[in-house]
Amino acid sequence: SNRVAERVRRIKPSPSTAAAERANQLRREGHSIVSLVVGEPDFDTPPHIRAAAAAAMNAGATRYTALPGTLELRRAIVAKLQRENGLQYEPQDIVVTNGAKSAIYSALAATLEPGDEVIIPAPYWVSYPDMVLACEGAPVTVACPEEDGFKLSPSRLEAAITPRTRWLVLNSPSNPTGATYTVNEYKALAAVLARYPAVMVMTDDIYEHIVFGEGPAPHLLAAAPELKDRTLAINGVSKTYAMTGWRIGWAAGPKDLIKALDTFLSQSAGNSCSISQAAAAAALDGEQSFVAESVATYRQRRDATAAAVNAIPGLSCRLPDGAFYLFVNCAGLIGRMTPAGKPIETDGDVVLYLLEVAGVALVAGTAYGLSPYFRLSIATSQDVLDDGVARIADAVAKLR
Ligand code: PLP
Repeated sequence: SNRVAERVRRIKPSPSTAAAERANQLRREGHSIVSLVVGEPDFDTPPHIRAAAAAAMNAGATRYTALPGTLELRRAIVAKLQRENGLQYEPQDIVVTNGAKSAIYSALAATLEPGDEVIIPAPYWVSYPDMVLACEGAPVTVACPEEDGFKLSPSRLEAAITPRTRWLVLNSPSNPTGATYTVNEYKALAAVLARYPAVMVMTDDIYEHIVFGEGPAPHLLAAAPELKDRTLAINGVSKTYAMTGWRIGWAAGPKDLIKALDTFLSQSAGNSCSISQAAAAAALDGEQSFVAESVATYRQRRDATAAAVNAIPGLSCRLPDGAFYLFVNCAGLIGRMTPAGKPIETDGDVVLYLLEVAGVALVAGTAYGLSPYFRLSIATSQDVLDDGVARIADAVAKLR
């Protein structure tokens, strides 16, 4: 008999974690591997944030906190939402979680009945469909092709909605494409949603500050405030402040949903780490120069790396508006043959070939629900990126 429940057997480990582990294993075996897999800033958490954590710990912030988060942190989040997004919330409209990941999972767990549908525009962050499956819901992925800027169009949204649709998940800027919705695009989606009042919206705003255009990414609720009572706005400090290990995220939303999250979390994860909460409050309230500096670095890497990739025959990529990935179109390699005589039929074949022959670890587009592509993370130094792209160019030139 299988001791593992069906709802766990139907999910799979994150493909990016799997790719990172495979790269590490090859490294341990002595191969020279350039890993362009990870989705976390390569910077250290800024010193003033680390100092705030140490001070909090030494001042006794070592106990359980209020479940929805310390009042200090929830006030800092309220101030952030007002200052940066123009959105009005109260501390009681916020619940602090163990990373944005836990906010998303807990919200799904707290709202989905078996078979309820969740619309997920593809390419998507790898975890959304599996989280929905773990909560016994049905992921409805909607392909958003490159010619649409990898964005959900109003007509594709409308075609995907059924009486069972519970949530629409919007992630802007997007992992893996960097696609970022404009105010007008949000308004057009909101016009569709106006006809389906039962559909709730989860905005995953985790990359909102990693943007390369003018100003921060607009928020859905700034474009369509009428959606506020059915929107859960999810965010966290992981990407903006290089705080992936601290595990602080949050959800802001209508009272009934926040209360459900609060109850669910009180009987599952419990409160988030007390010391990390103090650090996150310092990040939000403190001086913000790290954000602009790190984004300037990502922008240089994006420009240099995209230019180098676009110079490789058979590969192409759009300049992403945000986040720290290139989503590279590899359609031009499909149908070619490796020097060993193996046909390249899928983006998985491309990624395997580049790992084995070039020693470059990437993640295939299939993991994100759109092929043939691969994701290349620019959250690593320019030297590593240059080495990686040069290796890719050499290996691609060897294809027949
Ligand atoms: N949402 C997206 C789109 C992500 O790419 C990630 C991390 O990779 C997360 C959420 C998770 O963020 P956190 O570290 O706050 O759990």
